[in-house]
Amino acid sequence: MAQSILYELVAPDIARIVLNRPETRNAQDTRLLYELNEAYDRATQDEAVKVIITAANGPHFSSGHDLREQNHLDTQDKYKPVTSATGYRRAGAEGRQAREEEIYTGFCERWRNLPKPTIAAVQGRCSTGGLMLAWPSDIIIAADDAVFEDVTVMLGIPGVEMFAHAYELGPRKAKEMLFAGALINAEEARGLGMVNRVVPRAQLDEAALTLAKQIALRPSFALKLAKQAVNNIQDAAGRHAAQATAFAMHHLAHSHAMEVFGIPVDPGGVYKGRVEDIRQGTDAIKQKAQA
Ligand code: ZN
Repeated sequence: MAQSILYELVAPDIARIVLNRPETRNAQDTRLLYELNEAYDRATQDEAVKVIITAANGPHFSSGHDLREQNHLDTQDKYKPVTSATGYRRAGAEGRQAREEEIYTGFCERWRNLPKPTIAAVQGRCSTGGLMLAWPSDIIIAADDAVFEDVTVMLGIPGVEMFAHAYELGPRKAKEMLFAGALINAEEARGLGMVNRVVPRAQLDEAALTLAKQIALRPSFALKLAKQAVNNIQDAAGRHAAQATAFAMHHLAHSHAMEVFGIPVDPGGVYKGRVEDIRQGTDAIKQKAQA
């Protein structure tokens, strides 16, 4: 039974998947990510479902990774990996990279390539790891209060694991987002092509459903092929190689932070109170790796 995700059929052919940890601004812990992945699988395998909407309860779409999570080492015991990644408890960069290959880049790649059209309905803050819950969707509808940001550079990391910034925003705005932690508001995101439509907050759900219904009038196979054809353009132009290089840099930065600060991010940029959470998590990783 899912705890962090709601799954509903809002029409016979439209599934709506809702991030449901509003008390944490829909922070992503391991449970939420696996439950979200399961919900996508359920919608994909339901022959009746033609379009999938991803939405979020509460004022904010997602605040990003849940830095307070302490139990993520149990991932492999609790959840069946969906990629070929394994060895999350292994020492050093090996375990860290394996885990992120599964729950971040592995999941995002699967979600991007689901054989059905997907729509993300985004309101409020969509911060850092939150981008990885919106970007894999084919279409993004934003409420007029939506803001997008990636604060990883402040934490000593050169971008979130799914490195789609330059594709989403263009190279210059991507750099501003990364270098300065610039907030991109909904209208700006629409102007840059990252967001399809901006609607008043109160109309967000209705706008996503209306578009989903319009899409669902088309034949499933044509929708699947059209999606693949567009995704293939980015892939043929080298997206996979660019993503792999960025992910390697991401892990170089994690390893650098471990070497210099003893935790996988630069503590100078971490919100107060979270440094100790991350330190405890890091110590637990070391102890389990030695066990
Ligand atoms: Zn990472």
